[in-house]
Amino acid sequence: MPSITRRDFLGGSALAIASGLTPAAQIAAAPSLYPPALTGVRGQHPGSFEVAHAFAREGMRFGIDDAPVEDSYDLVVVGGGISGLAAALFYRRALGAGARILILDNHDDFGGHAKRNEFTAGAHSFIGYGGSQSIQSPKTLWSDVAKALLRDLGVELSRFETAFDRGFYASLGLSRGVFFDRETFGRDTLIVGDALLSRGAAGDPAPETFLAAMPISEASKQQLRALYDPARDPLAGKSAQEKVQILKTTSYQDYLIKICGCSEEVANCFQGRPLGFFGLGCDAVAAFDLRSFGYPGFAGLKLPSEDHPEWNEPYIYHFPDGNASLARLLVRALIPDAAPGHTMDDIVLAAFDYGALDRADNKIRVRLQSTAIDVRQRGDAVTVGYVQGGIKGGAPRSVEAKHAVLACFHMMIPYLAPDLPEPQREALARNVKTPLVYTNVVVNDWQPWLALKLSDVAAPTSFFNHVALDFPVDLGGYRHPRDPAAPIVLHLVHVPGAPNSGLDARAQFHIGQAKLLAMTFADFETRIRDQLDRMLGRGGFVSERDIAAITVNRWPHGYGYVANSLFDPDDYDDRVVKLARQPFGRIAIANSDAGGDAYAHLAIAEAARAVHELVT
Ligand SMILES: Cc1cc2nc3c(=O)[nH]c(=O)nc-3n(C[C@H](O)[C@H](O)[C@H](O)COP(=O)(O)OP(=O)(O)OC[C@H]3O[C@@H](n4cnc5c(N)ncnc54)[C@H](O)[C@@H]3O)c2cc1C
Repeated sequence: MPSITRRDFLGGSALAIASGLTPAAQIAAAPSLYPPALTGVRGQHPGSFEVAHAFAREGMRFGIDDAPVEDSYDLVVVGGGISGLAAALFYRRALGAGARILILDNHDDFGGHAKRNEFTAGAHSFIGYGGSQSIQSPKTLWSDVAKALLRDLGVELSRFETAFDRGFYASLGLSRGVFFDRETFGRDTLIVGDALLSRGAAGDPAPETFLAAMPISEASKQQLRALYDPARDPLAGKSAQEKVQILKTTSYQDYLIKICGCSEEVANCFQGRPLGFFGLGCDAVAAFDLRSFGYPGFAGLKLPSEDHPEWNEPYIYHFPDGNASLARLLVRALIPDAAPGHTMDDIVLAAFDYGALDRADNKIRVRLQSTAIDVRQRGDAVTVGYVQGGIKGGAPRSVEAKHAVLACFHMMIPYLAPDLPEPQREALARNVKTPLVYTNVVVNDWQPWLALKLSDVAAPTSFFNHVALDFPVDLGGYRHPRDPAAPIVLHLVHVPGAPNSGLDARAQFHIGQAKLLAMTFADFETRIRDQLDRMLGRGGFVSERDIAAITVNRWPHGYGYVANSLFDPDDYDDRVVKLARQPFGRIAIANSDAGGDAYAHLAIAEAARAVHELVT
């Protein structure tokens, strides 16, 4: 079978039709304009960011100062992610059904990071998640206001108990594994089980079996054994307080090498493991932060264990398109004509009419491909100038409103709203987002995974640090693939950056952002084929034959910045994050960035706070 046939994604055409594949038109109401079915480079796709870059980096004004005010609203929201959509809902609740609201977003789809990918392979249709993955720990992390919104949208958490088939892959004898690459470890080695981070988990081989298979020296193996020894205290003689201080100011990599006496080879076994969560490798994550995640080397310190009830919640709160379903539920609640249905089940296959999002007679309008570049309070109104249609779009446009909620990235706000006080602009600019890539690869079958007995592979030093079969979720008529002889979606995570550079988190993120923007779809495709062939080849995988479609969800501006004890002061959230989200007259500031972490529940809670600031 021929490989992916079109490679012209660089220019942003973004319609990759692999042999035998068409976009999932049967799910779509308007296949010609149905963004979830586009493949190629998605996420912050070509066409979505150029205006912002020209405006913020090069100071281009697009003639916005001369744009006449075209229309008037009660509220203009900048950013159509979960936070902006939730802000619109909270505002309508406060003002009543008559409230006129305009939501602007620079992408061709709504949802911000919460994006949906669809594919059709032969007779099979697939839904994947392009970004924001799951409702994280809703019982412990979600505030009352965020939980209430879930309920209002019809999301019953108990529904996931049956929708997510937790035992599915285990019932086929599949478990997690680790891939050690030849560039770092001398030879490619795939080991079933994950004895390094989950000692004793069901299905894992005994640590000694795992150790025996590892491509590292005997001396390194001995050091690894010592790391797990609860009788060994690498900080013996220090008080508990001193130990905590050391752990908070020492990277895990330095902790392993300089304090526990491990080789670089041992540190490499863990290097990329925190990437998916922190967007940073062990060289830039504090040892303290990895203690609760099962990383070794801490048992002998005899420190009181950290209480993290959130990690005891199961990771099952996942729609087939991830939190894109939350965005879809919000849009349906705001604009009922956009999609039929009323439940969390029927949202999964609901046909969305993108043509209904911005109709002139809507009270609430979602305007896509529209980048706000100027937000100013003028008397009793806020004017919002924006550019529609990308860098080669039409004339700049301007609207006014009683209020504005900026639910966009915080580091963009200083450019948008130049009248904000300087210290607040500086605080906003501190929020440098984590670059990351969620790649969905449709393969014609998953027999190789069965042959290798794997469902999920961590790769601590490879380009993709995590490769997995899709989550086994059946919801709303959507059935997760059960037949290993039929196609399935693989999910691959890449986090760029500058590992081992000695740079701080923000500098690493800036470098990663630039790297991502320089990569073409073909670059990603080459990496995907290389890594899958090397990882799964022993199970019979041949990328030339087995890959049916690829969507690269590129997020140069991904997770919001989280205070890092290696680089930020202890009171960072209290000083910097709080200052950043202060309201300014009729302008309030939302987005999960305002909560100091990258979570959907913060996007919602910060939207509620922002609206409250405007209407009380
Ligand atoms: C790959 C990935 C995986 C994630 N996984 C999870 C997860 O499993 N669970 C979880 O809770 N969270 C997760 N997150 C965090 C995610 O950020 C939040 O869940 C949530 O989606 C954030 O919503 P938001 O509306 O605050 O921000 P965003 O989703 O970033 O939305 C802001 C929107 O504003 C737009 N915008 C910016 N500037 C402008 C402008 N000038 N004009 C117009 N529009 C503008 C942006 O492009 C974007 O569309 C993940 C994030 C990423 C990137």
